[in-house]
Amino acid sequence: MLALEFPAVLPYDSSPSEDVVRELAHAKRFLEYWSADPKFRQALPQDPEGVTAAAGLQANPIELRPLWDPQGALDDPRPDSLILQRYRSFMREKLAYRDFLRSSAQSSHAGFRAWRQRQMNRCIGEMGAAKGSSLVHALMAVELCKGCSVGCWFCGISALKLDGAWPYTETNQQLWRGVLEAARDLLGAGCRRGFCYWATDPLDNPDYEKFCTDFADQLGRFPQTTTAQPMRDPQRFRELHQLARRRGNEIDRFSILSLGMLKKVFAEYSAEELLFVELVMQMEGAYASKAFAGKARNQPARWKKAFGEDAPPDYMTSTIACVSGLLLRMPEQSFELITPTQADDRYPNGYRILARHSFDDAEEFRTKLKSVLDGLSARLPLDQPLRLRRDLRTTWKEGGAELVTHHLKIDVQDATLLRALAEGGRTATALALECEGQRSLEQTLLELNRLFSMGLLDEEP
Ligand code: SF4
Repeated sequence: MLALEFPAVLPYDSSPSEDVVRELAHAKRFLEYWSADPKFRQALPQDPEGVTAAAGLQANPIELRPLWDPQGALDDPRPDSLILQRYRSFMREKLAYRDFLRSSAQSSHAGFRAWRQRQMNRCIGEMGAAKGSSLVHALMAVELCKGCSVGCWFCGISALKLDGAWPYTETNQQLWRGVLEAARDLLGAGCRRGFCYWATDPLDNPDYEKFCTDFADQLGRFPQTTTAQPMRDPQRFRELHQLARRRGNEIDRFSILSLGMLKKVFAEYSAEELLFVELVMQMEGAYASKAFAGKARNQPARWKKAFGEDAPPDYMTSTIACVSGLLLRMPEQSFELITPTQADDRYPNGYRILARHSFDDAEEFRTKLKSVLDGLSARLPLDQPLRLRRDLRTTWKEGGAELVTHHLKIDVQDATLLRALAEGGRTATALALECEGQRSLEQTLLELNRLFSMGLLDEEP
């Protein structure tokens, strides 16, 4: 799938040798520790090998220097080491994999597919290319518990306290399989890239593996797991991770809440075991991007203490929500159509909810989901009032105008049309008639369709 200069290491591409795995795994572990511990980062330049060995890490810090000290490495005339090249290749492959997830999660429903693409375009404008492109816009996420036992103070989607797990009874199993089948039929095979947690921790459900096995049977791939409880039952996680990889999942994730937890994880799991487990550093002092969303918004002082920054302005708040599609809450037997957005007072959890329904059985779920999807337009609706997104500003210039967000600028030649859209309240048909003196009806509708498909028109619920 990917053309890489060095042997690819993810299993869908090739089987790396034991030596390559070992070296990569220890390089990964070294860089994880470096990103987590500010004292380690500070001490490292003085005595790289001694400080690394004292931390119990086995990588060669000199060979990896360009990754942790790019300035210092400039003075080193030696060519890049093989492990450095391999590690970079590994990271490039992971980024390509993320892009693959985004592009391969295509739906077979034309209206939904076009809607999702508009949300992807909107997010890039709202959050900038780096963050916007990093969101995979998965088609489906599932909750198998009510709430979460972990209770992170910064939880970006405001998980409630744990209030029970959905058990794998015979009745629930039948409903679960029927719901998965309907989701697959209506959304398409791209649902296989969905996952079974949201404002929940997967390991809070003792039957999580059974639900995931059904997911793999119905959709063709075991879902990816992210847990903040890596030490709750290491043997359970090991078996889950191995099962997931045997059944088509590539990467799992640990959310690491403190340096103490990271050290315990390193003591429990070998570096090789965690080569395909990403560690997301959530502790104070870590190098990691954070979303000022959900519960964090209620604790600006704590935010500042933890990350040394004031609460960011609205255009920098970001989000941890990464689904443009279906959020299924199985314990409540309900679902929502959601899409990410910059967290703000209107959407504190960083996502919009466009529809919400409950269902008693799989047939009702199918009927209601179909009706929600069929309501999404692939093309510009002619009979609804249109206006620009609220985060867009217009600047007028000779011969046209620019649409501006904090992250990008878009040229629009028809300033009259843009003025009318900024005012809002007119339908596409009314706008086409209004602009008829300057351009044909078809030209105006084409331009409106272009702006619509770029995600520039308001589609807020
Ligand atoms: S961030 Fe994850 S683990 Fe922490 S409270 Fe929220 S859902 Fe639970």
